[in-house]
Amino acid sequence: MDNKPKLLLHICCVGCGVYASQTLRHNYKTILFFYNPNIWPEEEYRKRLAEAEKIAEQFNLKLIVGEYKHDKWLKAVRGHEGDSEKGERCLICYKFRLEAAVDMAQKLNCGYLTTTLTISPHKNALAINQIGERAAAQHGIKFLDQDFKKHDGFKKSSTLSRELGLYRQNYCGCEFSIRAARIP
Ligand code: SF4
Repeated sequence: MDNKPKLLLHICCVGCGVYASQTLRHNYKTILFFYNPNIWPEEEYRKRLAEAEKIAEQFNLKLIVGEYKHDKWLKAVRGHEGDSEKGERCLICYKFRLEAAVDMAQKLNCGYLTTTLTISPHKNALAINQIGERAAAQHGIKFLDQDFKKHDGFKKSSTLSRELGLYRQNYCGCEFSIRAARIP
């Protein structure tokens, strides 16, 4: 019998998700949650989702797909369209996705939650972990304070996704990040 604690892993994109999935599944009964209404255009969203399905299959993990309502997300970041990456718009974006992840973790009776967002060198791991911890604590869920980019996490993730032939996008996700066109 599998006695591992149940963990919901919010997966933002495949490049980030592959390494975290591989690492966490050894200690946790991991369920993947793809919830990224920030991604634009929809064609790109579908592409990243298809790759997430490949990871789930590769590691034999259950994948839950959240709703894709980009309009709702745009409304949440209104007024912050011109912010730079790591700025206020991104903090709103993390909170938007992590609160939905907390709801899903609660629905699935997961005692633990974390996100792959911290693997990107362009993301503020401290802010992500604080937002996640705050949201999760209100519902008695333990948010795993991770910084997946540590110990060469980003590099390992890139190598692994290349080995598995997975797609790696060249921008974070929203239309505003296309301008910057950096590897997330
Ligand atoms: S740059 Fe990335 S994290 Fe920031 S708002 Fe856009 S999609 Fe969200």
